[in-house]
Amino acid sequence: MKAIRLIHPGRPLEMREVIMPRPGRSEVLVRVKAVGICHSDAHYRAGKSRVHPLPLTLGHEVAGIVEEMGPGVNSVRAGDRVCLHYLATCGNCPYCQDGNEQFCTSGQMIGKYRDGGYAEFILIPERSVFRLPEEIPFEQGAIMMCSSATSLHALNRARLKLGESVAVFGTGGLGLSAIQLAKASGAGRVFAIDINSKKLKMAKQFGATPVNAGKVDVVRELKRLTDGRGVDVALELIGLPLTMGQAVRSLAINGRAALVGITEKTFEIAPYEEILNKEAEIIGVSDHLASELPLLIEWVRQGKLDLSRVITRRVPLEAEAINQVLDGLEKFGDEGRVVVRP
Ligand SMILES: [Zn+2]
Ligand SMILES: [Zn+2]
Repeated sequence: MKAIRLIHPGRPLEMREVIMPRPGRSEVLVRVKAVGICHSDAHYRAGKSRVHPLPLTLGHEVAGIVEEMGPGVNSVRAGDRVCLHYLATCGNCPYCQDGNEQFCTSGQMIGKYRDGGYAEFILIPERSVFRLPEEIPFEQGAIMMCSSATSLHALNRARLKLGESVAVFGTGGLGLSAIQLAKASGAGRVFAIDINSKKLKMAKQFGATPVNAGKVDVVRELKRLTDGRGVDVALELIGLPLTMGQAVRSLAINGRAALVGITEKTFEIAPYEEILNKEAEIIGVSDHLASELPLLIEWVRQGKLDLSRVITRRVPLEAEAINQVLDGLEKFGDEGRVVVRP
């Protein structure tokens, strides 16, 4: 079968003919119908994040049709529409048993530590396969398994309660999902913070109050908009020390800041004033959980999470086309989402 693979980090992906995998015990072979091209794929290709063993097929946002099942598979049948949790996990280690399978001791992310979805077929453990309702197109089923799932996990980690206010720092793919998911979860006011007025306009269409960080002092503005209280939940989705500090400083008493954006830099916070005196919390967020996916899928089915305007372009399963999209992501950041349609 055809697969688009990373052979050498720092070089373009290449098309290869590879042997079609066969499902073993509790494994499912899925015919790929759509796979999202993610910003992380650009990092993987560039060698900024480790990918192994090489060569490896990239692509971790996958939806398709069940082609074949290995022995012991009973939750899906051939022909079922499905979307894939991007972690292949063991199901037996203490983390998997606790439902924290993102820390599975032998867990492998598809498209990073085992072959992913830039291919005609993908092999995946049954426990990572979820039914995709007819109402959700394959391409939405693909992209919701990465950024939308992580946004939902961030809100869960922040223990968002009914009526609470939420500030979303960064209105890219993660942020637009986070705004809608916060609303669907029963949040009160939702504020969107960005410097890009085009993205803020989109955030406003989804019901958020835009705050342009290029024009106002974000912390002061969020305090003003909440009658001096601050926000109950702040999600930092950008990965900058500046916005991490703002997220914490904009918290109300008992507020929670969930940090999702990745950086290796440090940020400073005044412990007494910003954390102790408010009993505020800073919470780490890593990936998402399989147990969160059924609700996410249901909300997309019901239209509470609208992904129809997120996908801007489709490309065929060809190395050149995928490399061009990755070049664009490296140069311009995210300008909507591109999906491969094998
Ligand atoms: Zn992704
Ligand atoms: Zn495990």
